[in-house]
Amino acid sequence: MKMSKRVENLPPYLFVEINRKIAEKRAKGEDIVSFAIGDPDIPTPSHIIDKLCLAAQDPTNHRYPETAGLSELRQAVAGWYERRFGVSLDADKEVLPLIGSKEGVGHIALCFIDSGDIALVPDPAYPVYSVSTMLAGGRPYYMPLVEENNFLPDLDVIPADILKRAKLLWISYPNNPTSAVADIDFFNRIVKFAQQHDLAICHDGPYSEVAFDGYQPVSFMQADGAKQMGVEFHSLSKSYNMTGWRIGMVVGNAEIIDALKRVKSNLDSGIPQAIQYAAIEALTGSQDCIQEHNAIYQRRRDLIIDVLNSVGLEAKPPKASLYIWAKVPEGYTSIDLATDLLEEIGVVVTPGVGYGRNGEGYVRLSLTIPDADLAKGLSRLSGWHSKRSQHKANK
Ligand SMILES: *Cc1c(COP(=O)(O)O)cnc(C)c1O
Repeated sequence: MKMSKRVENLPPYLFVEINRKIAEKRAKGEDIVSFAIGDPDIPTPSHIIDKLCLAAQDPTNHRYPETAGLSELRQAVAGWYERRFGVSLDADKEVLPLIGSKEGVGHIALCFIDSGDIALVPDPAYPVYSVSTMLAGGRPYYMPLVEENNFLPDLDVIPADILKRAKLLWISYPNNPTSAVADIDFFNRIVKFAQQHDLAICHDGPYSEVAFDGYQPVSFMQADGAKQMGVEFHSLSKSYNMTGWRIGMVVGNAEIIDALKRVKSNLDSGIPQAIQYAAIEALTGSQDCIQEHNAIYQRRRDLIIDVLNSVGLEAKPPKASLYIWAKVPEGYTSIDLATDLLEEIGVVVTPGVGYGRNGEGYVRLSLTIPDADLAKGLSRLSGWHSKRSQHKANK
């Protein structure tokens, strides 16, 4: 068989490799504690599941859904944006439900990228922005995210010849993996930059509801002119613990939404309708669960931050997102550290370099770890540190 270059050149998806290693250890009976995966451990709230079960019983929901989704769902999305961000959206032209936001993030490259075209992609980043660019035949140009610049891209250093060929600019705040946040001034600057250089902006914002200490992230759609220049992806996965149900949305520029709808109508047949009804319930029903979940994550965040700083993995408490981006101690690469922790104490962290070259020097720990595992993992980390310190002292 002759596979396409497109497939042969694909890098392995980071978490597939990590999951394989964990499974191998667990099969040998080892007790592994994983801080690696950003998948809420708390179940989907029961009022949402009740709605899903009811909708599943209704035969009208057993048939092919429309690509554009139920009109009630698009209206629920528009209503949520209005209440949460004060952003008005045309539910028919500026909202498109997705089979999880990853699906839309992956497919939108097909709307912009022809062979040889460039997408500006942050580094480190969620891997789908660059992979979807490559699958479409294009080339990612990486914008480094470094701590000195608060993990925001430095737009002024992108070379002019790159900008001329670039069609798309990816950003994502609150950020995975760095947990950095952006304010409205940054989003305003991004829109201006896009206007100057004729770029479409894709903002990936699945963590806008996961925030701590009373902080409320802003939406890219609140920026002046955002709707002229771009779209925002959002998801019910992280806000309502719905990763397993696969539902998200993209909102904003009508021309972009229409192009993506045309691509999708040729590739998929929409989101199972019972799940769309569950999403309507999530967006329009009680929002109390968001505060409840954030309180749990915030408590875990504080426990993890304390231990990390005491064992030499320097980290600041994030204002938002499900992640802690911790510095690797002197003498380690991120892969060395992740490998040592797995081999020596059965603790899994994600090496930062897996998210791009500028992720080197960091590891990512997720807050989606059940409390009992969290306690066990942190006590192992403390023990690991004491043993290392003793070992050094004896040398
Ligand atoms: C989790 C995540 C997504 C995907 O969410 P789904 O809606 O479940 O597909 C997209 N972008 C980032 C940065 C994420 O962390």
